[in-house]
Amino acid sequence: MATKGSIGVTTNNIFPVIKQFLYSDHEIFLRELISNAVDATQKLKTLASAGDFNGSTDDLKVNVTIDKQAGTLTVSDHGIGMTADDVDKYINQIAFSGAEEFLNKYKDSANAIIGHFGLGFYSAFMVSKKVEIHTLSYKEGAKAVCWTCDGSPEYEMTDCDKTERGTDIILHIDDDEKEYLEQSRISALLTKYCRFMPVPIVFGKEQEWKDGKYVDTDKDKIINDVEPLWTRKPTDLKDDDYLKFYRAIQPAQEDPLFWIHLNVDFPFTLTGILYFPKIKNNLDIRKDRIQLYCNQVYVTDSVEGVVPEFMMLLQGVIDSPDIPLNVSRSYLQADRNVKKISSYITKKVASRLEEIAKNDAAEFEKKWDDIKIFIEYGMLSDEKFRDQAMKFALLENTDGKFFKLDDYKKLIEANQTDKDGNLIYLYATDKEAQYAHIKAAADKGYDVLMMNGQLDVPFIGMLEQKNEKTRYVRVDSDVIDRLIVKENNREVELTQVEKDVATTLFQSQIPTIDKSNFMVMLAAMGPEAQPVIITQSEYMRRMKEMAQFQPGMSFYGELPDSYSLTLNTEHPLIKRVIDQAVKATEAEIKPINEELAATDNVINALRDIKNKNEKDFTDENKKDLENNENKARELRDKRNAAITAYAASQDVVKQLIDIALLGNGLLKGEALNTFLNRSVSLL
Ligand code: ADP
Repeated sequence: MATKGSIGVTTNNIFPVIKQFLYSDHEIFLRELISNAVDATQKLKTLASAGDFNGSTDDLKVNVTIDKQAGTLTVSDHGIGMTADDVDKYINQIAFSGAEEFLNKYKDSANAIIGHFGLGFYSAFMVSKKVEIHTLSYKEGAKAVCWTCDGSPEYEMTDCDKTERGTDIILHIDDDEKEYLEQSRISALLTKYCRFMPVPIVFGKEQEWKDGKYVDTDKDKIINDVEPLWTRKPTDLKDDDYLKFYRAIQPAQEDPLFWIHLNVDFPFTLTGILYFPKIKNNLDIRKDRIQLYCNQVYVTDSVEGVVPEFMMLLQGVIDSPDIPLNVSRSYLQADRNVKKISSYITKKVASRLEEIAKNDAAEFEKKWDDIKIFIEYGMLSDEKFRDQAMKFALLENTDGKFFKLDDYKKLIEANQTDKDGNLIYLYATDKEAQYAHIKAAADKGYDVLMMNGQLDVPFIGMLEQKNEKTRYVRVDSDVIDRLIVKENNREVELTQVEKDVATTLFQSQIPTIDKSNFMVMLAAMGPEAQPVIITQSEYMRRMKEMAQFQPGMSFYGELPDSYSLTLNTEHPLIKRVIDQAVKATEAEIKPINEELAATDNVINALRDIKNKNEKDFTDENKKDLENNENKARELRDKRNAAITAYAASQDVVKQLIDIALLGNGLLKGEALNTFLNRSVSLL
């Protein structure tokens, strides 16, 4: 007896809709059909174990076959099968309302539509011009049923002579979907979607090498691992098992540093294995490193929303039936279960790291370089992770020694607290370039950290914020006595004239260096310290570095680097150079200075009038002030010109500047060449 009927959808014709909207995800039809076959098989096993099915459940494989000639792809199972009533109920009646509205809303997401409506089976129509179902139910006395539909809402259902229990879904592949008749294409899809499904899936035969080529054997080729590692008990597994599994899911990668086996039943079900790859300084967040499964069926490799962003640096698998898979991302992020899952994973990862750090500190230190960026990223972006990580995050000093945050604090507390009670952490970013500064700090008994990681700048900022009265300063950001001020610094003992001469003398001789500004400063640092020291302000440098991370700060990124060139006024060389300069220019600048002093007096008097009472400040006063200000400017220029002219002949001044530049890796190109030539002629 043949039945004809119309498939019960409220939208007149669902198939064009399926084809049109689900275009990009056509390939998932295979996952849907095989999942159904796997479900039907597992249902049979459940019935058997409950005593409701007495037949054999030994050989319940799912078979996938292609017949290129006939243009068909068939998925066969030996599961529970369907009676005519079942087909009617489960296949013919796709009842839903508001279909069009929903389809419009989710047209970008095939997964959403398919899952929401239980359209799994109908996804077959994305790639087929005709679909047949041949099925025989496990129920006693059941009759086999054949169902055909050519993509219009009309189907035909007849009795047929299928004798084996189970279901065959036969797809007559569309002319423009011929790729799904290619062995290699199907093989790739099976690996992608079905690799860890819980029932053996057969596709073709195992091959062997015979007479110079590969030939099929009699043995079925099973494409999946029905008991993937994450479903097994952690206590039964060895390191080698984890490594093997990693190599299988991430081929051509270096072995991971360590891993975490996730396993929880309550308040949600979740299993999985997360691996820590070697990340080094490569902060590339790829969204496809963690695969998401639902009861061993591959769902997606985009876990955004399910795990915090920094976790996406990890690799591995997560399997949970409790993640709503068929909803949009924004909905996912708001889901309470997902939030719980996300924070569970974060907590687990942190605890595992803490455990390794505690039980095997040496190993943890050895691997620190490779996980540092992951941990810093986590600490910067996830408050809960940060609170846990505070216990195991490490700091490394310039001697390559590692310290926990608390231990390091204890180490430096006594010696590196300044007179105002601030604890000063010194750090370097380049051991070679900042050698002189590191040495100067070491001479004082200070410890210097190494902070050259990609996230160290924001990381330092975070630590400063978290800990009161704590400052991180780069070791070359000022002279050492001003980085950690223990007592009030000594005054520079020079007259104003000497100060003016010294400043101009050096300022005028600094070579032009691209994108860099220098400002001469004076400090009494004792005769033992270097004569000239170049430093770069912590504040400005950090602003510039932060500009990399925060688009709104790009203004800072474009500013030139500003350095201080500090003259040590207690160094004998500097003293001598200043002395000689003052003497040599005295005759010329003394009268200028006298005239300047007189002019400044006039200016001050006039400004006094203006400040006391604006009304008394006549137009004549105003003009007078302008004239005198111009005159003062001219006099200063004249004085500077005189000192500059003298400085031009002073090789010692130039040499002192260049040596300091050289010590900071700033002397390059032509300036370096000039320095070398001058050095030779001085010898
Ligand atoms: P879903 O699997 O989400 O319920 P489908 O459209 O894929 O939606 O399938 C609808 C129903 O049809 C299934 O729930 C199941 O009862 C039945 N079905 C589909 N495929 C098979 C199969 N291979 N064997 C037995 N029953 C099946």
